[in-house]
Amino acid sequence: MLDGFEEIAAGLVATAKSFHARGWLLGTSGNLSAVGQREPLLLAMSPSGVDKGELRADQLLSIDQNARIVGQPGGKPSDESLLHIRIVRDRGAGAVLHTHSIWNTILSDVYARDGGVRIEGYEMLKGLQGVSTHEHAEWLPIVENSQDMATLAESVGETLNKHKAAHGFLLRRHGLYSWGENLAQAKRHIEILEFLLETIGRTLHIRANAI
Ligand SMILES: [Zn+2]
Repeated sequence: MLDGFEEIAAGLVATAKSFHARGWLLGTSGNLSAVGQREPLLLAMSPSGVDKGELRADQLLSIDQNARIVGQPGGKPSDESLLHIRIVRDRGAGAVLHTHSIWNTILSDVYARDGGVRIEGYEMLKGLQGVSTHEHAEWLPIVENSQDMATLAESVGETLNKHKAAHGFLLRRHGLYSWGENLAQAKRHIEILEFLLETIGRTLHIRANAI
């Protein structure tokens, strides 16, 4: 087992429970990872099919750069492990988090034709790394969903390359991905983006009803 794995696993469990309590990881959905070692890559990854509100640190899996389990006899890492690995590689992320909230699911479809969601003028944008003013315009790209994880990882890679300033992306009718240099920053980014997506969604709803 990696040095510090238990501490990393405990951090991921605390994050999972916190997100689950807010309705962002219901029905065993979503997944979480954090880098344990860069070279060769080892990632602490949430298991597939486990209730994130009941997740235990000993259920976290250590996987390599090909999403194969390392040093543990059983368990199945999340189906979306390849996406996490791609984000870690392309963005140099220390942690990657993926949520299935109602608002991120709705907006990933509402804005699909635009290819992304433009978020501008909100104070909460300053919670994103490197952003110092509410005047920042964040482009949250939307990637078409697929069950073929190798293909989806390629689409994600192309999107990350095209939108180098993005702090996250949406998978259409599926969910939100964000990341950070470490778990604390990744958690902050998810909280900020979920807040902003819900704000945009509720604003659309209120305006539609006001007409
Ligand atoms: Zn998902």
